[in-house]
Amino acid sequence: MPSFLEQKFGLRGKVALVTGSSQGLGKAMARALAQAGADVIVNGRDPAKLAPVVAELSALGVKATAIAADLGQRADVQRLIDQAIAWQGHLDILVNNAGIIRRTPAADHTDADWDAVIDVNLNGVFTACRAAGQHMIARGSGKIINIASLLTFFGGITVPGYAASKGAVGQLTKALSNEWASKGINVNAIAPGYMRTDNTAALQADAVRSKEILSRIPAARWGEPADLEGAIVFLASAASDYLSGHVMAVDGGWCGR
Ligand code: NAP
Repeated sequence: MPSFLEQKFGLRGKVALVTGSSQGLGKAMARALAQAGADVIVNGRDPAKLAPVVAELSALGVKATAIAADLGQRADVQRLIDQAIAWQGHLDILVNNAGIIRRTPAADHTDADWDAVIDVNLNGVFTACRAAGQHMIARGSGKIINIASLLTFFGGITVPGYAASKGAVGQLTKALSNEWASKGINVNAIAPGYMRTDNTAALQADAVRSKEILSRIPAARWGEPADLEGAIVFLASAASDYLSGHVMAVDGGWCGR
């Protein structure tokens, strides 16, 4: 008989796709899902960066594979989901993590920067949700976890496209939950706080902004990718079966301040 923890949080027999998982938060979440027993598909644009991640996950005793695809191209997103489903015949968990940021003051923000961010962070997420959602509706079960941001709630500074895209990811999460929760699909989001990855390298390097940010974090430290491990396994597992349409901040207490 499986233990209580295995029943509630175990992911054996489940297949998970984590977009943008060659590094940073996506890689940490892919590893956590594998540690909980899921077979995992990793994704990014560069196959060379994905190969070592597949090797690392396989060493945990689960099946792992890589599908390179550009989340900024709708046709590529559809191909990614089709191939992900075809790999083991089903897709149980979709983590929409791939995301980019362009830092320029709003008055100088170019169309190219705006479009690139919206294409990956919003259009790619919707296309992936729609394609995976069709499959999950037909099966009557699924877990979708979108990676939002503190800029789902706040406007940020000099990142207007990013803030707009992540605000929309929060609303999309609720809209899909409203339609799909009754069909056995949980749609939730994680809003990470300020985490140490390449995505925040410019902020970490800016002594003034970095100090300003740290002074507002009640936990008194920046987040590490591993800080998302518990939240992702919870939202991907049976433990969260009655939780849907929620944007969960994992932010060292930032939102409460
Ligand atoms: P990161 O270190 O820059 O990693 C981004 C990942 O996404 C990489 O694996 C990258 O691989 C992939 N990627 C980028 N563009 C892609 C595309 N067009 N198609 C497919 N994959 C793509 O970023 P991170 O900090 O881990 O951020 C991950 C997510 O968390 C993002 O959505 C970000 O907005 C969000 N987030 C981060 C923080 C933070 O503090 N770090 C806070 C809140 C939210 P390739 O370059 O090989 O494609």
